[in-house]
Amino acid sequence: MEPFLRMDRFPHIWCPGCGIGTVVTCFADALKKGAFDLDRVAVVSGIGCSGRVAGYIKLDSFHTTHGRPIPFATGLHLSNRKLKVVVISGDGDLIAIGGNHFIHAARRNVDLTVICINNFNYAMTGGQVGPGTPVSALSTTTPFGNFEHPFNLPALAASSGAVYVARWTSLHVRRLTNSILEALTKPGFTFVEVIAPCPTLYTRRNKLGTSIEVLGSYRDNCEIRHGADPSTVDITFGGKIVIGKFVDVAGKPTFLESLDAAMQRALGKEYGLGKDYYMRSAGQRALVDREARHD
Ligand code: SF4
Repeated sequence: MEPFLRMDRFPHIWCPGCGIGTVVTCFADALKKGAFDLDRVAVVSGIGCSGRVAGYIKLDSFHTTHGRPIPFATGLHLSNRKLKVVVISGDGDLIAIGGNHFIHAARRNVDLTVICINNFNYAMTGGQVGPGTPVSALSTTTPFGNFEHPFNLPALAASSGAVYVARWTSLHVRRLTNSILEALTKPGFTFVEVIAPCPTLYTRRNKLGTSIEVLGSYRDNCEIRHGADPSTVDITFGGKIVIGKFVDVAGKPTFLESLDAAMQRALGKEYGLGKDYYMRSAGQRALVDREARHD
């Protein structure tokens, strides 16, 4: 793991039994398996316990503001097509505060991989109810049980246009690693939800046992159903969790492919100055023009 981690920042801040570290390990293993050039991979996180991932990963990494990792990652990708940009963050950050960015990046099929660690609450701020908290679960702000319907994250991603959608848990490390690798190598907006325990604020409050017992419940309560209709994989408190690869669409143009096609149609050969030509500032375009003229 050492080549992938900023060891000088250790020990990390995650609680014993937290599932986030397992997801980091699976992500690093996926990079290793895929033999990625680490100079061409960037990680972006938002705020929250999962948002700390960017601080520990030894890649170009960015810890952005709350809910904004996807627009930041989109900008990074648009300014450097050679980068593989990965967003790793939590359910509160990505789906509540950043929910609008999530659905529009999926709609546009921006070439990003988004890994959402879903621990069913806003953990870093004290265990408040979040967009993934199951109905009837206890949280700091729902002491009598949550009465709001949570998002079904795979259904949200799939209906917004994601080309790859999967859900695993932090127990299913081999399958999760392979799924992350698949998501990383597929062009377009790819999404992996990872159900992971937050023993300090969610599982303890809901009397779900120790982290080991929670992992045991993932073993007993998960059903692998590849190709399941995402609209049928809602999570209920204490109910079965459907996991697997739900969506894998081939051939859908990415945001930049669609942009290039539109610009080629409109500008013809002029667009050949460089695919990113029109995305530069006026000053940068003048420099490109000068270099093209060799003056
Ligand atoms: S509060 Fe929960 S999510 Fe945050 S580090 Fe601790 S166990 Fe993990």
